[in-house]
Amino acid sequence: MKEILQDYSFTELQALVGELGEQKYRAGQLYRGLMRGKRISDITEISKAFKEKLLARFEDEPVRIREVFASSDGTEKYLFELADGNIIEGVLMSYKYGRTQCVSTQVGCRMNCAFCASGLNGLIRNLTAGEILSQILTVNAKFGGTPEKRAVTNVVLMGSGEPLDNYENTVRFLKNVTAEGGICISARNISLSTCGLVPKMYELAQEGIPVNLTVSLHSPSDEERQRIMPVAKAYTIAEILKACENYFDKTGRRYIFEYSLIAGENSDAKHAQMLVGLLRGKPCHVNLIRLNEVKEKNLSGISEKEAYRFLGLLEKGGLSATLRRQIGADIGGACGQLRAGYLEEKKD
Ligand code: SAH
Repeated sequence: MKEILQDYSFTELQALVGELGEQKYRAGQLYRGLMRGKRISDITEISKAFKEKLLARFEDEPVRIREVFASSDGTEKYLFELADGNIIEGVLMSYKYGRTQCVSTQVGCRMNCAFCASGLNGLIRNLTAGEILSQILTVNAKFGGTPEKRAVTNVVLMGSGEPLDNYENTVRFLKNVTAEGGICISARNISLSTCGLVPKMYELAQEGIPVNLTVSLHSPSDEERQRIMPVAKAYTIAEILKACENYFDKTGRRYIFEYSLIAGENSDAKHAQMLVGLLRGKPCHVNLIRLNEVKEKNLSGISEKEAYRFLGLLEKGGLSATLRRQIGADIGGACGQLRAGYLEEKKD
């Protein structure tokens, strides 16, 4: 695979343009084109000779929309093809205020959570910063968005992969996506979700990019959490909570816990009570999700009524909590499900 030009910051592009023997102002033209989601070959402002130099070294289109699935609720699910033929997925949710795009950070995942389809085939490879960014640039352009008038207004790092397991590329992406003069999505409008890689949570707090931090908790007990999330063997819930508090101290951002309700695993009244004991008084919010059942995994969700009962117990205990509306369930809404389905179809 060639290099990815969208990995570069504007300053790095300026240096590159100099290296390639072009005048400095060309960097601005190139950057504007890229931030508009254009392929190198489609940027009309730059000369043919310069394009040829770039195309000898860089991918013309690092992320291509391969298929779009529309849900009856307005959610869209994307299958993207990378330059090396790998497939990743993303989701776009439309709201009154704008659009939220869910992006992937890895091809596959090595965390192997019991309920999640992303880890079914392990980790294939990390995405580069530019491959993460290009998912957004491409979809923003599809809706006629520009950096000045964005169609994609919010971003969540909740697609396939564990963002903090691909730390350097993820942080580079966050710097580039929030940079002035680029597509410039504010850190406040970006949420990063992690399964709880504690040392990296501390590092992230120091980066000066105050994105919303979301942690996949899924259980109030270390022992039970280990059953559904192998990563729980490496870091305890107490360590995760400390890292969250540090994140709050450093960034002033309230943190969020994701909690997918699984029948017979983490959704009894006792779990709700334990969660209240664990989180009461902390500057956090709990996002309940009803499990999206993955056919390769032997786990079931709970009914909507039971989920509301669980929510009621958290609220009664004084926690800030919501039950997330199940979106795009008819189009393989959960992480990795669409890609897993696609890979399986190809096998047949
Ligand atoms: N690796 C990161 C990013 C994934 S974010 C993380 O673990 O946080 C996606 C969220 O959806 C996570 O909270 C994940 O645990 C959850 N999830 C994955 N598969 C799911 C499923 N089948 N049903 C419900 N939630 C699921």
